[in-house]
Amino acid sequence: MISVAEAIQIVRQQTRPLPQERVRLEHVLNRILAEDVIADSDLPPFDRAQMDGYAVRAEETNDAPVRLRIAGESAAGRGWHHELKQGEAVRIMTGAPVPAGADSVQQVELTHELKDGTVVELLESVEHGKSIVRRGAEIQAGATVLQSGTSINAAMMAVLAAFGYAEVAVAQRPRVGVLATGTELVSVNEKPGQDQIRDSNNYSIAAYAQLTGALVERLPLARDETSVLTNQIAQAIERCDVIVTSGGVSMGVYDVTKAALHELGAEIFFERVALRPGKPTVFARLPNGTLVFGLPGNPVSVAVTFNLFARTALLAMQGANEPALKYESALLARRVKGNVDRESYLPAQLTTNDDGELIAFPLKWGGSSDFVAFALTTALVIVPAGTKALEANAIVRVLRLP
Ligand code: AMP
Ligand code: MG
Repeated sequence: MISVAEAIQIVRQQTRPLPQERVRLEHVLNRILAEDVIADSDLPPFDRAQMDGYAVRAEETNDAPVRLRIAGESAAGRGWHHELKQGEAVRIMTGAPVPAGADSVQQVELTHELKDGTVVELLESVEHGKSIVRRGAEIQAGATVLQSGTSINAAMMAVLAAFGYAEVAVAQRPRVGVLATGTELVSVNEKPGQDQIRDSNNYSIAAYAQLTGALVERLPLARDETSVLTNQIAQAIERCDVIVTSGGVSMGVYDVTKAALHELGAEIFFERVALRPGKPTVFARLPNGTLVFGLPGNPVSVAVTFNLFARTALLAMQGANEPALKYESALLARRVKGNVDRESYLPAQLTTNDDGELIAFPLKWGGSSDFVAFALTTALVIVPAGTKALEANAIVRVLRLP
C-alpha cells in the first residue's frame, strides 16, 4: 500500500501536458493559461487624473484661495494637449490625461468657477502630485502580468482584455470518459427494480471533471462482466485522454475492473492507497496512452479519490501550476477517530470563528455510502495513519473541496 502523497506524486509523474490552443477571450474563463501574459503598454498609459477637478501647478496654490484662468478642458478620451502656463488651470475629469506643465489636480468640491467659466477659484492649496496616477505607476510595458499555468478567473479577464489578448493560448481541455460499473445500476430516468439502484457516481464524477475544465463524455453503464467492461473501455479509448470508472475494484467475485484493464494490456501504477475511504483506487495507463482511474463504487469514496487523484491529473494535463488540492490548517470542532494503517479523509464543513480562525466541523455520516450527508461537505479533515483519535481543538490539515 502506498501513501496518498506517494500516489499523488505518481499521478503527477505519469501525466503529460496536452498541447495548447488559441481561444477567443470570451471563452477562456476557468481555462489554464499556456502563455505568460505581457503588458503591451504602460498602465496608466498617460498621467491620469484620479478626480474631477482642475489640473494646476501646486506651487501656484500655496496662497489659496487663488484664482486661475481656465485654459481648456481635458476629458476622458479627449485630452487637452498644450502646455499649462503660469496662472492657468485646466478643467479635468476622472480618467483624463493631465496636461504637460500641471503637477496636481484639485478636486472640484474645493473650487468654484467664476466669470462664465473663464476663471476658477481654488479654495484650498493642493499638494504636489495630488490626484494624479503617473504613467506606468500600475504596470510598465513589457511586465509579465499573469503567468502561464494560472487558472483564468473573472478578474483576470479584465487583465487579458486591457492588454489586447483577443485570443489567448490555453491548454486543450482533456477529454474524459466517465464509466460506471455495476450490474445493479440503472440510469436516472429509470425506476430501480428489485436489487437495483440508480447510478449517481457518473453525475458527481462528470461534475467534478467539468470543474477542472475537462470535456466529459458519459459512457454507457457497464455490467460486472470482464468482457463487457473490456469492450466498453476499448470502444472509448480513442476518444478519451482519461477514463474514470467507478465500482468493481474491491476483492469481490464481481469486481472486474482490474481484470478488464489487464485484458487491455494496461500498465497499473497503483491499486491500493493507504486512504480511508478509497483504499482500492486504481491508476493505470492503456497502451494507447489513455489514463484510467478506477475509483471504488461508494459515492463518498468516489468524491474523495476523484479530487485527490483524477482532478490532479486533469489539471496537470492542462499545465496548471498547482494541480493538487492545497492543504490548509483548521481547528477541529469535535473529536474524530483515525485508522491504524490508513490516512483518513473525513467529511467536514469549514467555517470561521469570531477570531477569524478556520474551524472544521466533522459531519455525522453513515460511512462511504452516505452521499446525502456528503452533499453538505465542504472540506475533508485529514487524520494521519496510526493516529487513534484527534481531540477537539486540535489543529488539523484540511482540504477544501471544489
Ligand atoms: P463496488 O465498489 O462496486 O463494490 O461498489 C460499492 C458500493 O457502491 C455498492 O453498494 C454499489 O452498489 C455502490 N455503487 C457502485 N457504483 C455506483 C454508482 N455508479 N452510483 C451509485 N452507487 C454505486
Ligand atoms: Mg460493484
